[in-house]
Amino acid sequence: MAKGAKRLKSDLRVVSEKLTYAKFNIQYKENKISTLINATIINSLKNVKTDINKISYVSYILELAEQVSKEHFNEKVYDLVIQAILKINNGYDGLVIMNILELKYLDFLGVMPVIDSCAICGSKVNILTLSASAGGFLCKNCYHNDKIVSEKALKLIRAYYYVDIESLEKINVSDKIKNEINDFLDDYYDRYTGLYLKSKEFIRTLKNL
Ligand SMILES: [Zn+2]
Repeated sequence: MAKGAKRLKSDLRVVSEKLTYAKFNIQYKENKISTLINATIINSLKNVKTDINKISYVSYILELAEQVSKEHFNEKVYDLVIQAILKINNGYDGLVIMNILELKYLDFLGVMPVIDSCAICGSKVNILTLSASAGGFLCKNCYHNDKIVSEKALKLIRAYYYVDIESLEKINVSDKIKNEINDFLDDYYDRYTGLYLKSKEFIRTLKNL
């Protein structure tokens, strides 16, 4: 509870706005509502708050981080979401950042796709496509009728997994390739995580506008 936070002159007004990254000093009361004493803003995320696209990506990844934490509590889940939000605030592609985070979170959810060999037979060669139903990479021998993604998408998804979000440089990739990875992750989340997040629907709507 932030007492008097709605008053114009209150010191708590700005810091208790939605989507503010700050260090909060609270008086913790067990089994009761805790009180916000004061807060120091680390980043007001001004660029996020003024852009509907950024708001939608940040809202979704926050909801996702909360769900992942419930399944598997780990401080890294929090660190990763903060790094991702700061990147989006700094103008990095929201779709790319969201997909990087989604892929890294699959590890915490215990359902990491196989992206170093064929998910069916384990072959390291002749990888043809990405398949959510197969569980990751799919080789020529195991392929039936899945959608074929570009070779660049196969390389990029591995880069997404290994990249350190904090030290990420601008990624120059076509929308087609980004969307191939996003479609795979979308399908994969639906099949294996059991998570349903309302804010994801909003991103789908925005993307289709
Ligand atoms: Zn195979």
